[in-house]
Amino acid sequence: MSVSAMDTPGRQGLPGMLLVHPDGSSFRFDPGALCLELLPTGGPGPLAYFEVLHGPEALVRWAGESRLAGGLDLAVSPAEVAAARRLRDALRRLAEARATGLPPAPEDLAAVNDAAAHPPLAARLTGAGAREWAAGATGSGLLSTVARDAVDLFTGAYAHRIRTCGGDDCRLLFVDTSRPGRRRWCSMERCGNRHKVRAHRARMTTADERG
Ligand SMILES: [Zn+2]
Repeated sequence: MSVSAMDTPGRQGLPGMLLVHPDGSSFRFDPGALCLELLPTGGPGPLAYFEVLHGPEALVRWAGESRLAGGLDLAVSPAEVAAARRLRDALRRLAEARATGLPPAPEDLAAVNDAAAHPPLAARLTGAGAREWAAGATGSGLLSTVARDAVDLFTGAYAHRIRTCGGDDCRLLFVDTSRPGRRRWCSMERCGNRHKVRAHRARMTTADERG
């Protein structure tokens, strides 16, 4: 069985992906790189709570909402969905290791390198100056493109700027590509705002205590 979609909703011109928490709340999150966009779809251990890659449709939907954008004619098999989850979990461990200065695990490097060994999605330039994707794309082509993006990220100019969000209990990972390099939060809308509210309360309390 495979699932294919000629057109996916894409980002509707907005930056980042719309993340929907299992509790129903949602916010936009731009982790700064394609490979990191795969991480919020679930993960190892307690992150299984956030799992959304339950079948081929879900991986096709993710691809359309990612920075690859819509217009992908993509056929995905259930085996490729399982491979996507393995690649994602390896990418998370590699990114967390990098963010905390630990060495990468050899089996996680192997997972990325195995995925990258397949032919990637074929990008095409249109007369209107837009990017489109060649027909006949597969799940393994998609995962190769994601894995190659990870190789670029981990060896690139921003490799030292891979971070975990500074929010309490937030495990979202991003790469800070801003010029000043001071990004702390997954999103201002979510963890940044919570921090502001908490800091404000702390100031009020101190002011109360001073009378
Ligand atoms: Zn956060």
